[in-house]
Order: sequence, then C-alpha cells, then structure tokens
Amino acid sequence: MNVIVLVKQVPDTQNVGGDAMTPEGTVNRAALPAIFNPEDLYALEAALQIKDENPGTKVNVVTMGPPAASAVLKECLYRGADFTALVSDRGFAGADTLATSYALKCAIEKIGAFDLVLCGRQAIDGDTAQVGPQTAEKLSINQITCVSNIEKLDPAKKEITATRSIEGGWEKVKAKFPVLVTFTEEGETPRPASAIKTMTFKKAAPVAGDGGPMALWDIPAIKADPVQCGLSGSPTKVKKIDSVVLTAADIKYIEPNEAGINELIHGLIADHTFG
Ligand SMILES: Cc1cc2nc3c(=O)[nH]c(=O)nc-3n(C[C@H](O)[C@H](O)[C@H](O)COP(=O)(O)OP(=O)(O)OC[C@H]3O[C@@H](n4cnc5c(N)ncnc54)[C@H](O)[C@@H]3O)c2cc1C
Repeated sequence: MNVIVLVKQVPDTQNVGGDAMTPEGTVNRAALPAIFNPEDLYALEAALQIKDENPGTKVNVVTMGPPAASAVLKECLYRGADFTALVSDRGFAGADTLATSYALKCAIEKIGAFDLVLCGRQAIDGDTAQVGPQTAEKLSINQITCVSNIEKLDPAKKEITATRSIEGGWEKVKAKFPVLVTFTEEGETPRPASAIKTMTFKKAAPVAGDGGPMALWDIPAIKADPVQCGLSGSPTKVKKIDSVVLTAADIKYIEPNEAGINELIHGLIADHTFG
C-alpha cells in the first residue's frame, strides 16, 4: 500500500504575543516557536501502524511551508517515514486553505498512485479544519473526517472502516480506497522518535528532485499553476486584525443558571456579536 501523510509545522499558539500577526494579516512565524501540529502526529502514527501491520507499505509525508518546515519532516523520518517532501516556494506565501489544498493536491499527484491520504482534523493556527476535506475534493476521492480510530483495514478489498467522533457520540464509517482520513487526538499515542533513525537522519536536508529521504519541490516541480497558489490563489482576504488581550477586568462571572444564560445572551446581542 502507498500511504501519504500531510503534516504542518505550526506556531506554538500557546505562547502568542502582540507581534504574532504581521500588518498584512499573515502569521509572523519568526515571533513564535514552531512545533509539529499535534493532530498530525496522530495521523502519522496511524500510517506507521498500517505499515507495521502490512509489510511493504510505504509511508510518504508531505508538508507545504517555508524552508524551516523541514524540521517536521525530520521528526517523521525519526519515527519511521520512508519518504518526505518539502513543498516550498515564495509563490506559496499567504496561501489560504483553498490555495494550500491545491498545492497539496499537486504534490500528492506527483507522488503517484496511492491508497490512503492521512492528515490532522485541524491545525492549531488557522484552526479551519478545511484543508483535509478540500484536498479530498480536489483529488475527487472519498473522505472520512474526525476519525479517532481505524477499526479495520482490508488492503485486498481496498476498504477501510473507521470510528469518527460526532456530537454526543461516534459513528462507524466504511469507505473504498483511495480515501482521505482526518484524525483527532483520540487515537493511539504517537510513538517517540527512534534513537537509531534519529542518528541516521539527523543530517537529512531538503534536496531538489524526486529522490528521498527529503525532496524539495517548488511550484514547477509539482506542475502547479502559480495563479492558484499563495496570495493570488486565495479568495480569503484578511480585512482587519484585532489583537484582543483579555484582562481580569474583562472577565465577568455569570451564574450558571437560566438568569445567567439570559444575561449572557442579552450581553452578546448588546455588543452586536450576533445579529
Ligand atoms: C489566525 C488565522 C486564521 C486563518 N483563517 C483562515 C480562514 O478563515 N480561511 C482560510 O482559507 N485560511 C485561513 N487562514 C490561513 C490558513 O491557516 C492556511 O491556509 C493554512 O495553510 C491552512 O489552513 P489551516 O491552518 O486552517 O489548516 P487546517 O485545515 O485546520 O489543517 C487540517 C490539516 O491539513 C493538513 N495541512 C494544513 N496545512 C498544511 C500544510 N501547509 N502542509 C501540509 N499539510 C497541511 C494538516 O494535516 C492539518 O492538520 C488563517 C490563518 C491564520 C493564522
């Protein structure tokens, strides 16, 4: 089986300061420590478990980002990924989810035939949870979102059964390959980096071309249309950024009862949050 995992390097939004956003409305990545998007580690773990249980499976990892994003690809090699690709080009800067999913679709098509695309449900910075479903649509393949667990994988029947979390419970979904699956943080605990693999791949760096363990692909390499990439391919325009810093004075205790809820709703209506 050929499995492709989409991972993102994200700013650690636990430590956001006033300089987190640029005046243009994009993330000031230099101001924030970069980390591996938490849910993507669960997608990677699911891929590595499929490989453990199905010898011959190849785990490919793709990330679109600035050169520094190669750090998350190294983490994937340390855990057992077979091939990684950094999709990086100044032309991708400022991409919204539509432009991001377009670039990822092109990178996936460059890898070739695949059975599964696994990714996180959402990234902790943009938080839209749109890239997974959009990428599946652009590839015209099945999708199962918010998956906590793969129940059954049948390579012979090219079929997957997964448990997904829904409001108030969960549901079991079956789908035919090729399929894209987005993961929550409810699954198997991601394995740590292996010491041997860390020593092996410590010096790995992105190299232009198709060879592994870490390829570097720009817009021409993935045969993408530059107009559909980055800011030019992004219908989402950030109109204004308000840095909201809450102080203790802003936090008002509301009794957790009917009167309190009415007070809250009227308060929200009053400051035009709704309507
Ligand atoms: C505060 C903020 C608000 C934003 N609001 C919007 C908005 O309303 N609409 C909009 O279109 N864009 C928005 N963006 C831009 C958006 O963050 C980027 O387009 C981003 O690349 C993808 O969206 P996301 O972070 O929401 O990812 P999600 O859709 O939440 O990511 C889901 C999964 O897709 C995969 N994935 C996402 N990005 C990449 C990548 N670069 N490389 C590999 N895999 C990836 C990962 O597995 C990830 O877990 C916003 C950005 C910020 C910082």
